[in-house]
Amino acid sequence: MIQLGNFLLMDRDEFREWLSKQVVTRPIQFLQVHHTASPNYSTRKMVNGIAQQDTFKCLEGMRNYHLSEGWAATGQNITTFENGQIAISLDRPLNKIPAGIRGFNNKCICIEHVGNFDSGGDKITDEQKKTIIHLYACLAERFNLPINIDHIVYHSWFTRTGIRLSDYTPGESSKTCPGTNFWGDGNTVAAAQKNFLPQIQKELDQLKSKNKTTVSEDDQPMTKEEKADFQALQEQVKQLTSKLSLDKIPDWAMEACVAAKNAEVVDTTSGGSYDFYRLITVLYRKGFFK
Ligand SMILES: [Zn+2]
Repeated sequence: MIQLGNFLLMDRDEFREWLSKQVVTRPIQFLQVHHTASPNYSTRKMVNGIAQQDTFKCLEGMRNYHLSEGWAATGQNITTFENGQIAISLDRPLNKIPAGIRGFNNKCICIEHVGNFDSGGDKITDEQKKTIIHLYACLAERFNLPINIDHIVYHSWFTRTGIRLSDYTPGESSKTCPGTNFWGDGNTVAAAQKNFLPQIQKELDQLKSKNKTTVSEDDQPMTKEEKADFQALQEQVKQLTSKLSLDKIPDWAMEACVAAKNAEVVDTTSGGSYDFYRLITVLYRKGFFK
């Protein structure tokens, strides 16, 4: 996880734990799906599947563009990349309403997927696909949202003013976003329901079943071997503790112990540790029990 400038960049497997620690007080009901169109795999300067452009440079570039449009901060809360990394906009934390779909941002988290996924554009990488599926599953888990078109929404299902359409409708939809070839299926409701949403559901089911496994492992009573180990450990602790207490009062401490008892500083002076007798003797010699 690296924080630089206005962004926090993390790997896919860091996201769920990070998310679990975030305090979000505004209601979350919708998870938006966008592609950036630009930047895209070309502006990322991909060579053998690896972007040559610095990821933070790409992020700050988007932010600067949004600011130049008069926006208060980076539009999206979260961004995904072709290498599977996830960026959090520090100037647009989850608690802040995003600028993703004009007229429909309240109760939304806006996620931008870097790439141009219109027909003839970029072919989405497997790493980015894995990240996107995991990301929506984690968000659905965290905010307790069902995986369906009521809660995971494509930008293309909205008009220019944020009115929800029944489907992507050329001429009425404000944009083709997340792309007419998003996920290889397109930007329609049917396309979302074909592969995209079922894959998120599957990932969510797996996350939940992993939770269950962890819980039941913790809950299991000790096996016979574990019990024996535990008892042996307890016995060792007992022995170590008893070793600390001396069998008899050392001769050099006897006078001090008598004085301490006579002075009613302690009830008993037997069974003490070496350090106990040392301390009593030091105090005695300093004249405390006279
Ligand atoms: Zn969009």
